[in-house]
Amino acid sequence: MLPQVIIIGRPNVGKSTLFNRLVGKKLALVDDQPGVTRDRRFGEAHLLGLDFTIVDTAGWEEDDPSSLPGRMRAQTEAALVGADVALFVIDARAGLTPLDEEISRYLREQPVPVILCANKAEGRAGESGLYEAFSLGMGEPVAISAEHGEGMADLFEALLPHV
Ligand code: GDP
Ligand code: MG
Repeated sequence: MLPQVIIIGRPNVGKSTLFNRLVGKKLALVDDQPGVTRDRRFGEAHLLGLDFTIVDTAGWEEDDPSSLPGRMRAQTEAALVGADVALFVIDARAGLTPLDEEISRYLREQPVPVILCANKAEGRAGESGLYEAFSLGMGEPVAISAEHGEGMADLFEALLPHV
């Protein structure tokens, strides 16, 4: 069985873009797993010779904010079971939001190792958000651009000890 890497983050940070980037041409293999919540998408990922299962989560993308904490917890707990490592994605252009901080607090209590990924870091626009990300206390963020394929070697190095 391949190691499992789960992508977590608030809406619009680029989780699905990263998923598609890592799955690449094998996108056709991606499908909702039968019997599993539709909030998760599984794919076979390849990154510089690393093979792993990648899980895209959308469980936090609920319209009703009042239901967020409960759903967050349920979705994340379910998805984190069996995950070898979590990619916690933030938007380096938008900077940190209260929801990022809430997710960060939650993830810190979980037994799964977390790699903080500052996405949309291409160009100058991502620089402030990248530095802000240090304040989460989750170590040095890996600067990536899922859309442009930048930072993939750094992501590889960060994943290597866990997969
Ligand atoms: P999700 O809601 O976290 O799954 O985010 P999506 O993958 O749907 O992306 C949300 C938006 O961010 C889309 O408009 C993407 O094109 C954009 N986006 C994703 N990755 C990048 C990136 O690396 N750089 C920039 N500038 N935009 C990105
Ligand atoms: Mg998505």
